[in-house]
Amino acid sequence: MSHVFHRSLQQTYPVAVSGEGVYVIDNQGKRYIDACGGAAVSCLGYDYAPLKTAINAQIDKLPFVHSSFFTTDILEQAAEALVNDTNGVMSHVYFVSGGSEAIEAAIKMARQYFVDTGKPSKRYFIARKQSYHGNTLGALSLGGNEARKAPYKDILIGANHISACYEYREKQPDESAEAYGLRAANELEAEILRLGAENVAAFVAETVVGATAGCLPPAPTYFKRIREICDQYDVLLILDEVMCGMGRTGTLHAYTQDGITPDIQAVAKGIAAGYQPLGAVFMKAFIVDAIRQGAGFFQHGHTYICHATAVAAGLATQRIIKSENLLDNVVKQGDYLSQRLHEQLADKPYVGEIRGRGLFKGIELVADKASKTPHDASLPIASRIRAVAMDNGLMCYPIAGTIDGVNGNHVLLAPAYIIQAHEIDEIVDKLEKTITTVMDGIAT
Ligand code: PLP
Repeated sequence: MSHVFHRSLQQTYPVAVSGEGVYVIDNQGKRYIDACGGAAVSCLGYDYAPLKTAINAQIDKLPFVHSSFFTTDILEQAAEALVNDTNGVMSHVYFVSGGSEAIEAAIKMARQYFVDTGKPSKRYFIARKQSYHGNTLGALSLGGNEARKAPYKDILIGANHISACYEYREKQPDESAEAYGLRAANELEAEILRLGAENVAAFVAETVVGATAGCLPPAPTYFKRIREICDQYDVLLILDEVMCGMGRTGTLHAYTQDGITPDIQAVAKGIAAGYQPLGAVFMKAFIVDAIRQGAGFFQHGHTYICHATAVAAGLATQRIIKSENLLDNVVKQGDYLSQRLHEQLADKPYVGEIRGRGLFKGIELVADKASKTPHDASLPIASRIRAVAMDNGLMCYPIAGTIDGVNGNHVLLAPAYIIQAHEIDEIVDKLEKTITTVMDGIAT
């Protein structure tokens, strides 16, 4: 009997023993092609030698030193490299151990900014219904997935929610994408006015929504209008790029494709390719200056902030992505993945939409294509897709759950930045086989 407290107490898991490129191999020798990076994490696959060498070198030198006593060369180098890559947008970076911690730090940083600048009434956060920001209490409060929140509802911090920008479901047939983007963004203004601008600290959003809505890129005008509204009402814009950031959508930061910049940005997952647990919070200079002149100290920290080995993994990952021009491969193979998904899946009666950016794709499954009617939420579609895919030697990320009244069934794909065309062919073949098996079973 396993003594590991696995999250699912009903499921049994194969035993993973090794990795080879984009494959995970279990103790029976079975190979699984990873089409989702685990959860959009493993952007360099599972045995990238130069990354392992960089991590081992740091462990040999100095694996860990507590951040209240020392800084380290590796920490200073990683921060400098990451900040330089924002082309002057951000001035500092705060290293944590993962995405939820990054969001938690971003919430507190925004709050402390307003306390330190003499505006303590600014304490409310606005987020979006179709969103996931992590599982710690603050991050969970911001998320929109009611099922995840249900057992903890009474102990959450409370947050206010508007709709996400969800063209497939919310754009009117006679409305342009641009007009819809503005209409969706204007929900933020209405919510700020309802709460009183003097009470609102920040708006938090995933630049491209990931796990709650099966990859949802914003309409072209959406974030420009969001940025205007935030500026008008002195509300900070926090972008959660934990899943969509660090190259996943084809640019290092997803927000550059929307022509805006956030005030605070959370990243994790791809930053260190999963070889070490690492997250980070970027911030603009005015936030740092306010905290420096205010309390002079960020009142929030964890033992493992600025962890030398984790930061070494992050720096090495970012150097590899650059030196190997992997963002070019994200764009090229992302286009190929779109093409192949459209060729093999778009005509299926249960495929509502295929969408995404770079190597970040979502497939929305529906019960009726013409009316976009979702499946009954009680059908175990996501769990079956996961199980059948694993039988077929495929790791993909199916998503279920009732999101804002929409019974969302989606499959999220986020393969490694090193993926090649023949591996995409294998992914799409196995995915088609998997989805067909499950949906034929559902229909009968
Ligand atoms: N934010 C987003 C957009 C995420 O997708 C996730 C995780 O999936 C998180 C935050 C939380 O990150 P972590 O699981 O590393 O705590």
